[in-house]
Amino acid sequence: MSIFGDKAADQLKYITTCRLCGKQFTSSPFKVAVIGQNVPPEVIRFVEALQKHLLTHREAIASLQLAIQQYAGYMVTRQFDIQDPQLSRVQEGVRHHLHKMTRKETITDEQITENLLMTPIDDPDLRAGVESLLRDFRDKLQEEGRHAPPKPENSPLVTV
Ligand SMILES: [Zn+2]
Repeated sequence: MSIFGDKAADQLKYITTCRLCGKQFTSSPFKVAVIGQNVPPEVIRFVEALQKHLLTHREAIASLQLAIQQYAGYMVTRQFDIQDPQLSRVQEGVRHHLHKMTRKETITDEQITENLLMTPIDDPDLRAGVESLLRDFRDKLQEEGRHAPPKPENSPLVTV
C-alpha cells in the first residue's frame, strides 16, 4: 500500500522524457524489483518501448551499440584472469569510463577549500596538509590525476 492509498497510487503517473527529442512516455508507478530479483514484466515492456523509440534516433544508435558491446565485453572479460597487458588496459579503460559515467557526485578543488574553511583548523600549514590529503583522496575515488588509469592504446574490447 502506498502512502497515498491504493486509489491514489493507481492514478499516479510518471513521465519519462527522451533527452534527444523530448518525446514523453507515461507510466504508472512500477513495483520495483529488488536488485538480484527478476525484473517485473511491465518494467521490461516499458524499457522495450523506450528501446524501440531510440531506434528512431539513428545518430544515437551507433554510439549506444558500441557502448553496449564494450560493456558486454567488459562483463565477459572480468570473469577471466587476463595476462595480456593490452587487453587488461582496454578492460580497465571501459571500467574507468563506466565509473566516470555513473558517478553521481564530482568534488571540485573549490568545494574542498570551501569546506575546509568551515572547520576549526586555523593553522595554515595544517590546513594545507589536510587540503592536499583530501584532494588526493578525491582523486583516488574519482580516478583522476595521478590515480587515473593509463590510456589504452586501442579502445574497443569488442571488434565488429
Ligand atoms: Zn527521442
